[in-house]
Parts: sequence; structure tokens; C-alpha cells
Amino acid sequence: MEILANNLKRQYDLYAKEYEEKALAVLRKGWYVLGTEVSSFEQEFADYVGAKYCVGLASGLDALWIGLKAMGIKEGDEVIVAANAYIACVMSITMNGATPIFVEPDEYDNLDANKVEEKITPSTKAIMAVHLYGQSCDMDQLMKLSQKYSIPIIEDCAQAHGTKFNGKTCGTFGKVGCFSFYPTKGLGAFGDGGAIVTDDAELADYVRMYRNYGSKVRYENEVVGANSRLDEIQAGLLRVKLKHLDTLNEERNQLAKRYLEGIQNPLITCLQTRPHCYNTYHQFEIHCPKRDALITYLKDLGIGTIIHYPIPPYLSKAYAYLGYQVGDFPITEQYANEILSIPMYNGMTQEEQDYVINAINAFE
Ligand SMILES: *Cc1c(COP(=O)(O)O)cnc(C)c1O
Repeated sequence: MEILANNLKRQYDLYAKEYEEKALAVLRKGWYVLGTEVSSFEQEFADYVGAKYCVGLASGLDALWIGLKAMGIKEGDEVIVAANAYIACVMSITMNGATPIFVEPDEYDNLDANKVEEKITPSTKAIMAVHLYGQSCDMDQLMKLSQKYSIPIIEDCAQAHGTKFNGKTCGTFGKVGCFSFYPTKGLGAFGDGGAIVTDDAELADYVRMYRNYGSKVRYENEVVGANSRLDEIQAGLLRVKLKHLDTLNEERNQLAKRYLEGIQNPLITCLQTRPHCYNTYHQFEIHCPKRDALITYLKDLGIGTIIHYPIPPYLSKAYAYLGYQVGDFPITEQYANEILSIPMYNGMTQEEQDYVINAINAFE
């Protein structure tokens, strides 16, 4: 059997007719950038997460980059971020001239809130809470620190569309919530896309201006902005998928439950979910000390897997100038050597999942 790590065609097939009708309707309308599909999606997505405002952007990286900028992050500032986060998180910080301050992850593979306080300095101007793999950071602890030190939080929800902590949707805890709609994400488009959500009207206005060359009124430019617009086709297709997002997230929870019950191998530990968190299982993560052998073994059986992520950002070539070395964040490095995302996608059949479970259980 051939099983992809992520099968986007399956997701598409679930609601193919609705997507096709919407795409055709937008094509026939003759208005392709910043129109009513975008403004309707912004309203619907803000309502979905429970924020006052949403501004559509071109990507998740742009959401983080412009989100930090809108919070006033600039050269000389420090931003705290998990050492095992995705490189886009770190790039959004350095693109604003600020310095990433890395913190090890906890046993849920997300920012260890107990290790944040010791990294706070007078230059700390934001804490980035990256909700990896569909589960939430410890927002209780992070919100307490945020209030104690008056340091705002920016949330990276690129892997957490609909994830909740204590019943509150991720993206609404911090000053800004940032989303990516890259096709593999929980709410994935059919191309690139992103958005910020916020309750701050002024901040939303700034982002809306920044995304369109720093312009509110055509040909009047208030700041040197960017071209970071969500297009009408993506917004229209996202509106279709958003209606089904809760169902898709529930299906992923069912798949996760079957994995958690079915995987029984002393060499493999399934990542558990933080208490009080509604996990949307963007990925299903396992840890295995013989990870690389497991990848080859599964590949030979036709099972695809992905490592999220093999190289921590501080060890990547792009950030050699920061001067970090192997050994600086031992937990992060251990995770980078042990973690593996196994097949998880909407539309995955029971037969496919049993095949994966049996293969994993037979690994030695
Ligand atoms: C995908 C992702 C991003 C970047 O989103 P793009 O739309 O690809 O720019 C940022 N952070 C995390 C955690 C992601 O998974």
C-alpha cells in the first residue's frame, strides 16, 4: 500500500463540488484582488476564532513579520521564541531587525513556559507563542508572564486553526494571532495565504494599510509597506473550507484517537496533548530514538513520513551569524533527532490507518 504523509487530494475530494463552484464563480466575477470574498472571509474568520478583526495577507510568514512590525518590534528588541519552532518564526523576528531569544520546548514539544521568565530582559518586547502540531502552548502561564512584565504576546497559529486552550480559541490570547493558509495547514488554501486576527482596531488598520503598499487611499502612501494581499480565489475557497473546519478537526481527533490506542511499541512514544487543550492535530507526532531507521523501514513499506523539523533554526546556515552551536539547546536537539510526523490527513481510511499502525507496531 502507498500512503502519503499528507494527502491533499483526499481533502479536496471531500468538498470538491463546493470548491469548484466557488472558484468558477470568482473567475467569472472579474474582480481578483481585495474584493468581497476577502472582506467576507475576514469577517467570517474573525467570528470563527472570536476576534474583532481579521486582515488577510499573502502568507503566514508575512502575518508574523507584519504582525510584529505592527506591535512596534524593531532593531535592538528581543523576542522570545521556542528553540524548536519553524524557521519562519525566527525569520519574522530578524526581518524586523530584532533578536530571537530561544527557549527550550516542554514535554508537549511547545515553548516551555517555565523557562521563559529567566530569559526576560529590559529589551524583551514580545513573546512568540508558536502552537506547534495543532496543540496549544501553556497560555495560562504565558498570559501571567505577559501581564506581570507588560510584554505582549504574538501567537503563531499556522498549525492551530481552531485549537483551543481552556475553551478559548488560539489566536485570541495575545495582541496578535497569526495564521498561515498554506495548503497543508488545517485551514489550507489552494496556494499561499495568511492572516492576522486582533481585537486592536488601530493595529488591524496598520496591517491593512501595510499589506497594500502602506496605502489607505489609492496612490497615497503613509509608510513603506509591502504587497501582501490575500487574493479573491483563495479567500473564496477558504470560506468554503472554513464552514467545514470543525468537522475536519473532529475527524483528525478521531484519527489521532485510533493512533493513540493502536500504537503499541516500546520504541515509540506518541506525543500527548497538554491538559485543557483541544488539539487539532495538524500533525501526529511520535518520538523514536531509532527515528532514521524507522523512516527507512516505513518508506520500504510505502508509508511516507516527514520530520518537523530536522534542523533547529539556530543551527541552520541562515542563522550561523547568531553564533549558536550544537549542544546549546539539548532538548530541542534531542527532539530534532527523535520526532516524526506519521500520515495524518482528512479523508484517511481506516484500512490505511491500520496499515500504518501495524507497520509501526512491527518495527524493532
Ligand atoms: C507554515 C508555518 C509558518 C509559515 O507560513 P507560510 O504561509 O508558509 O509563510 C509559520 N509558522 C509555522 C509554525 C508554520 O507551520
